[in-house]
Amino acid sequence: MLELAIIGGGPAGLSAGLYATRGGLKDVVMFERGMPGGQITSSSEMENYPGVAEVKSGFDFMMPWQEQCFRFGLKHEMAEVVRVKKIGNHFGILLSDGKEVESKSVIIATGGSPKKSGVKGEDVFWGKGVSSCATCDGFFYKNKEVAILGGGDTAIEEAIYLAKICSKVTIIHRRNEFRASPVTVERAKQESKIEFLTPYGIDEILGDSSGVTGLQLKNLENGSEKKLDIACLFVLIGYKVNNAVLMQEDGHSLCALSEYGEALVNLKMETNISGLFVAGDLRVDASKQVVCAAADGATAALGAIEYIEHHK
Ligand code: FAD
Ligand code: NAP
Repeated sequence: MLELAIIGGGPAGLSAGLYATRGGLKDVVMFERGMPGGQITSSSEMENYPGVAEVKSGFDFMMPWQEQCFRFGLKHEMAEVVRVKKIGNHFGILLSDGKEVESKSVIIATGGSPKKSGVKGEDVFWGKGVSSCATCDGFFYKNKEVAILGGGDTAIEEAIYLAKICSKVTIIHRRNEFRASPVTVERAKQESKIEFLTPYGIDEILGDSSGVTGLQLKNLENGSEKKLDIACLFVLIGYKVNNAVLMQEDGHSLCALSEYGEALVNLKMETNISGLFVAGDLRVDASKQVVCAAADGATAALGAIEYIEHHK
């Protein structure tokens, strides 16, 4: 039986692996369905990790993380986990090939992904002027005109954030009413750099070899068309957490979840199930940044070490 199973090999899972193995846990396996690294490996530029002054691609940035973990004994099994379940006082990890592995403790760090809009050009320019993260990429568009797609709290709050960096922020939303709280919408309306375009949809994201140059828009009420020159489109239309491994055969979650499907944890990354920890973007109130996910992973590993020590 494993002492610790880590599900997911992004920044949270890898940091958990480093701290758990270096902290003395034996038989620690990280189950990651692909190459370790997580979401950030799809980013072309990563420049906000404290202490790393050089701007690197997400892939290059994450490469040393796994090497460092493997040096301390972390094992990587390239496998998709279907479900984590409780068996008495330990856990069963069911893999997609039907194999089941048992472990005394588990850290789930399966992350999540921003929702995509499916608009023409989105995939072509993803990471080259189409972004899902204002905190990550806003600075690259300092003093430039940008647009946001979406009308929820994330879209409006990030518009207010971007207005402090960019020269103009246009919020494009498909309805005249906003899902975001009225107070937040009112705050955005007070910002001179923010403009609202409603009810508008994006027909196409325009660009060239240098990246995004503009948007072809349509008024959804009268069908009139409009072109908007911008350097970046932030698609902020919701986020999907990868909580499938928590779902049991009877449809219930192994641990308590928020109304958005995020795992409820305390400051030690403990769930309401003893021995089960959740770290990174999957947990409630996650800041959805690499540095935060890494810190969560380390915290969860320290908790797992303590748990194993007390359950010998
Ligand atoms: P993830 O990185 O999502 O990793 C989860 C891992 O779990 C994945 O590798 C996945 O394959 C694996 N997994 C999921 N389900 C299973 C399963 N059932 N079985 C096995 N494995 C599974 N943050 C910054 O700090 N700075 C930035 O500049 C920045 N830029 C970004 C740019 C982009 C395009 C994106 C998408 C995100 C960016 N972020 C950035 C956010 C950052 O990437 C995330 O906050 C961080 O990766 C979350 O780490 P995590 O370990 O919680 O989850
Ligand atoms: P959200 O509330 O689900 O809003 C998504 C927005 O994107 C909606 O306005 C939706 O339009 C639009 N949208 C969805 N799919 C689209 C598509 N394909 N094309 C164009 N537009 C599309 O998501 P969120 O803003 O990420 O927020 C998620 C949850 O977190 C919400 O409950 C929110 O209140 C909460 N949150 C809270 C805070 C806070 O309290 N400070 C901050 C951030 C988020 P429609 O409205 O027309 O459906």
